[in-house]
Amino acid sequence: MAGKQKILIVDDKLENLVVLEKVLEDLDVEVIGARSGNAALAKTLDHKFSMAILDVAMPGMDGYELAGHLRGDADMQLMPIIFVTASYADERDEFAGYEAGGIDFIEKPYSPAILLTKVSMFLEMDRARGDLEEANLRLQQIGEAKSRFLSSMSHELRTPMNAVLGFTDLLRGKNFGDLNEKQEHYLRLINQSGQHLLSLINDLLDMAKIDAGAMEVNWEMFPAEEVVDAMIQMMSAQFRKKSINVIKEIDESFIVVRGETGKCRQILLNLMSNAQKFTDEGGEVTIGISKVDRDYAKFYISDTGIGINEKDREKIFSEFFQSQQTQDANAEGSGIGLALTRRLVDLHGGEIGVDSKPGKGSTFWFTLPLGEVDDEDSSSEESGSHSRLTSVNKREMHILIAEDNDLNLSMMLDMLSIRSYKVSVAHNGQEAVDLVQTLHPDVVLMDIRMPIMDGIEATKQIRSIKEFEDLPIIALSASVAAKEQEEQIAAGCTLHLSKPIQTKLLFETLDQYETSREHG
Ligand code: ADP
Repeated sequence: MAGKQKILIVDDKLENLVVLEKVLEDLDVEVIGARSGNAALAKTLDHKFSMAILDVAMPGMDGYELAGHLRGDADMQLMPIIFVTASYADERDEFAGYEAGGIDFIEKPYSPAILLTKVSMFLEMDRARGDLEEANLRLQQIGEAKSRFLSSMSHELRTPMNAVLGFTDLLRGKNFGDLNEKQEHYLRLINQSGQHLLSLINDLLDMAKIDAGAMEVNWEMFPAEEVVDAMIQMMSAQFRKKSINVIKEIDESFIVVRGETGKCRQILLNLMSNAQKFTDEGGEVTIGISKVDRDYAKFYISDTGIGINEKDREKIFSEFFQSQQTQDANAEGSGIGLALTRRLVDLHGGEIGVDSKPGKGSTFWFTLPLGEVDDEDSSSEESGSHSRLTSVNKREMHILIAEDNDLNLSMMLDMLSIRSYKVSVAHNGQEAVDLVQTLHPDVVLMDIRMPIMDGIEATKQIRSIKEFEDLPIIALSASVAAKEQEEQIAAGCTLHLSKPIQTKLLFETLDQYETSREHG
């Protein structure tokens, strides 16, 4: 702390002040005396005191009253105050002293050695408190600097990564000439590594942002099952790749939770990706929702995978932890997925945990607060809460996205989640043709380059079905070549939007179909 500590001593008798000053002489402090409560208060305007020694019985303002005034000042709220008094007639006096804010008493006549010891102790306490305050301030400044660093870093890291991915995509689209097999193979590897790196950067930045207290939840109410459905759809290709059977378990027909849809999706995606990663071919993954009590809903993700031994179970939610088994198996990963997931659940005021039997499988679960269900509305609705939400939500338009790339898909889903659309996903052209016929969406967002069947062929097939002659199909591609855009329109696409898709433009386009849908 800067400068000498100061002690305020107050006594109406000059001789007492002189004695006290003499006793305190040996301490390396500045002693300032006053002979009345008012004179003492006047001194506090010019000095910052580390402690006060007050006589109790004084004419006018007594020691207790003075202590009350001193405590009223924010700067002196925690300052040690010692009362000096003739012996007590009654212990009630002593209580009154503590109530006034004293922390100790010294009875006259006092032993100078004991007084000195006590004063030194309280000065030490005050010094420690000052150091703590300073350290707190420093920590706060470091936290703020960390936030600033992160927000600029997040931009600095993401921008070049997006350029790497964007240009790779352009080259892979063969916009500037054909590619040989090796070039295609290398571009695919650049793209995969780039996407992996980008998701790692995003996870680390999210984690640091939460730790710096810079991440907030944009609270909304949403049906739990909808998020689960969207994530099952999004992950379906990965599950299919390992022939993993996916089961959905919903024990209540309609559960509305309170939280941020995007973050809830991120939590589910992390846990479902792990379930997929750590479960062998032909295994089973169950995703379920149930109500825990009146306040919380529980989501759980069970797998029949490798399981986690008891020792590791405590560590898996900390940063960068991977079980020995995972490392031996050389499984892809960084060990930050669960650390981030735990923070996202914490942010919602929920809990997260895992039950597991090594060799048999694991069940990860987390809770989120339940959303309030509006009882008034339900009385007028015959078929219960589900129809209530749908009817309130008049503008709910059903959009089918056909997109094979997970990163692009999750970006599109994030974008569309801003509005309350109903969204379904196809992972290739063939799935799009099938889903259009079973789901009857209002609009299709069609990626062009997709495996199995591309967007051009899928659009042609959809258009050949009479019922879907007028269905809006919006082509999405990174291609800037006019020839390719003409090809999309010739195949039957209603219009073309260039990637990266701009949210505003996408919504304006969708609004257009919304209006025609309402009038139609
Ligand atoms: P990553 O998967 O990137 O390594 P996570 O933080 O998501 O990082 O997971 C940490 C570790 O927890 C994993 O490396 C693995 O050892 C273990 N783990 C997570 N989920 C499962 C699961 N479903 N089954 C078995 N082990 C799991």
